[in-house]
Order: sequence, then C-alpha cells, then structure tokens
Amino acid sequence: MTASAVDLAPPDAYTDEDCPGISPHPAVPRPGCTALRWIGQGLGPGRVVAYTCSCQMTAYGLVSCVGIYQFHRRTLPRLGVPPVSWTAEWWRRGEAHEWWRRLLAGQAR
Ligand SMILES: [Zn+2]
Repeated sequence: MTASAVDLAPPDAYTDEDCPGISPHPAVPRPGCTALRWIGQGLGPGRVVAYTCSCQMTAYGLVSCVGIYQFHRRTLPRLGVPPVSWTAEWWRRGEAHEWWRRLLAGQAR
C-alpha cells in the first residue's frame, strides 16, 4: 500500500526543485467545482494583483483593469486549450477576491 500512496502524492511532492515556492498552488478541482468560461480576449492591459505558482502546468492570475477584475490563465499548449485566456466574467473587487479564493480552493476552475 505504501507504493500506491506515493503515486497519489500531490505534484508538488516531486516538482519541488522547479518550484519557487512563493505563490499558492490551486487545489485540485473538487466535486461540484464551478466551471468558469474562458475566452481568448481580456478587458485590456491590467495589473496582476495575485497569481498562482509558475511551476504548475497552468498558472492563473487575478488581473485588475480600472476597477474591474478578471482572471487570466496561462497554460502549456495542448489540444483544445488556448495557451492564454481570460474569464468571460468579470467582477468588482470583493466578488473577484471571493472567486479567487474559490479558484485556489478547487471550487472554481
Ligand atoms: Zn510551485
């Protein structure tokens, strides 16, 4: 049973060498996770106010654009997923931070 426990270890357990260890790693999506809609166009140039660790295959950023917030997603190119995308939804500050918390907790993706 020890061997299968090792196989199930979270990715950070064996990618530590490449991990700057500064930003959070979003949790694995949970059952009932809200599916965010991702589109190829953002609101415009913004300021990244929070981001997830760059060691992961997909990195997320919370971007502020004149008081409106949107998530930014950067991922390694793979079939059917654009390398850069933004949430179709955008929010005011409080709501955006709540969604950011859900993203990190695996409740939205
Ligand atoms: Zn990392």
